Amino acid sequence: MDTFSAPYFRNDEAARKALEAILWPDGPICPHCGVINHAYATKRPGVYRCAEAKCRKDFSVTMKTVMERSKIALHKWLQAFHLICSSKKGVSAHQLHRTLDITYEAAWFMTHRIREAMRAGGLAPLGGNGMIVEADETYHGKVENPATVTTKGRPFKKSGRTGPANKRPIVALVERGGNVRTFHVPIADKDTVSQIVRENIARESRLHTDDSRLYPEVGQSFDAHKTVKHSIEEFVRYEGGEAIHTNSAEGYFSIFKRGMRGVYQHCKEKHLHRYLAEYDFRYNHRVALGFNDGERAALAVKNAAGKRLTYRGTH
Ligand SMILES: [Zn+2]
Repeated sequence: MDTFSAPYFRNDEAARKALEAILWPDGPICPHCGVINHAYATKRPGVYRCAEAKCRKDFSVTMKTVMERSKIALHKWLQAFHLICSSKKGVSAHQLHRTLDITYEAAWFMTHRIREAMRAGGLAPLGGNGMIVEADETYHGKVENPATVTTKGRPFKKSGRTGPANKRPIVALVERGGNVRTFHVPIADKDTVSQIVRENIARESRLHTDDSRLYPEVGQSFDAHKTVKHSIEEFVRYEGGEAIHTNSAEGYFSIFKRGMRGVYQHCKEKHLHRYLAEYDFRYNHRVALGFNDGERAALAVKNAAGKRLTYRGTH
């Protein structure tokens, strides 16, 4: 079966038209002045000239997107977006290099650009009235300079003792049946975790965590704080019909870890937040929330533009 039989996966011109349809549903948008649908096509394919008297500049659909100034053909970009968005665990630069017949360097560059597109923008708090949000931490890989992590700065383990100083802590907040938001933090101590929880979860939410000592204090800021006692092997508890657990967060971590082990074995710590953004994006646009592969890829492409620009209408 050929996943890439559609014309926009096979030919540059069709890919450009597809990109224009996704990024410019209401007509060309001038990235210089932000005017919508007030431009005309020039003789060069894909190049438009702004018709605003004060602007008059040329532009194309990839300008000021993550695809800007790339020498890689647009149909290969669309294939890459599709591959990364539709695989459960992600796609390595090596795999992209082979599949798209481009250099490894070009593939590596693309994967990072696409991850940038998948990164979420302005963020409203998770949860809300009556909604459950789980908070949990995990450790992944190794920090590059364990010597710089002091004993005092060691992360807490669930037992309450300090955790492995050479592992990279990740904090995940997951709405039950909804979205995830993850954070790679230098240290998963009470101050750091409390701040993340406070700044990213709506006060009216019901917070679910394990019995780690990271959460009791910040838990008081919420409508309710319910804990499951992982320290005594309790993984779910029922209270008046409410299932108390952190299984959504655990599920997210398990997808992330399996993917990182299978696909991204050599992730530098400075890139970890980018991989998390990639996994967050797929989780937040998963099939269970009503997104298919094509819609997920189109959304990532849409996210590739407009991050630095506020658009305005003609009048
Ligand atoms: Zn303009």
